[in-house]
Amino acid sequence: MPFIQQITSDFLHLLFPEHCNACGVQLVHGEKQICIRCLYDLPYTDFHLFADNPVARLFWGRMPFQGAMSLLYFRKGSKVQDLIHRIKYNGNTELGFMLGCMIGEKILLTGQKTELIIPIPLHRLKERKRGYNQSKCIADGIAKVLQLPVNTKLLTRKINTGTQTKRSRYNRFENMEYIFRISQSLSLKHKAILLVDDVITTGATLESCGHLLLANGFENLSVATVAYAE
Ligand SMILES: [Zn+2]
Repeated sequence: MPFIQQITSDFLHLLFPEHCNACGVQLVHGEKQICIRCLYDLPYTDFHLFADNPVARLFWGRMPFQGAMSLLYFRKGSKVQDLIHRIKYNGNTELGFMLGCMIGEKILLTGQKTELIIPIPLHRLKERKRGYNQSKCIADGIAKVLQLPVNTKLLTRKINTGTQTKRSRYNRFENMEYIFRISQSLSLKHKAILLVDDVITTGATLESCGHLLLANGFENLSVATVAYAE
């Protein structure tokens, strides 16, 4: 960083100190978004090391895929819940990007074939209201590490669903069916696609997108999320 820029950055940091998005302590020079201690202590799943990990098992018998992983365990009241909240509702797109980079580093280790990254789309009205799609920020981080394009045109959400949190697994899947559409030419059909979302719980959303892609001739799918909620 050039000297003047460094001075300005340090000065701004003094005036407006940044805090760790996971524990709230003031970040020191060199730390970004998450303090070193939290980065070390976060509940990493290491799912990328095991083909038969719990995220993969969610799709067994439901959808063929090449690889499935989540970076962190999601538990209520945890630091991971705070991180997800910040990327989803507090507009912290930079944090989403950073977590995406961390996922990208893990995927690099797997050797999994990926050619195109697709974030799970929000309905356009929801995205307009929120101002961004958090899954796109995560996808951008993964894309930076893997040096791959992100596509936000192929899949769109045609129905604006309400909150999913209180519905049963069966109802949620019923509700998810037919809510996405393929909006772009199918020339990308032979690409190995990585679908990206913030949190995976039942897998219904990712499965819904996956089924639509498979029904339209796409064959090589993988999934990745920041967090896995048991
Ligand atoms: Zn922290």
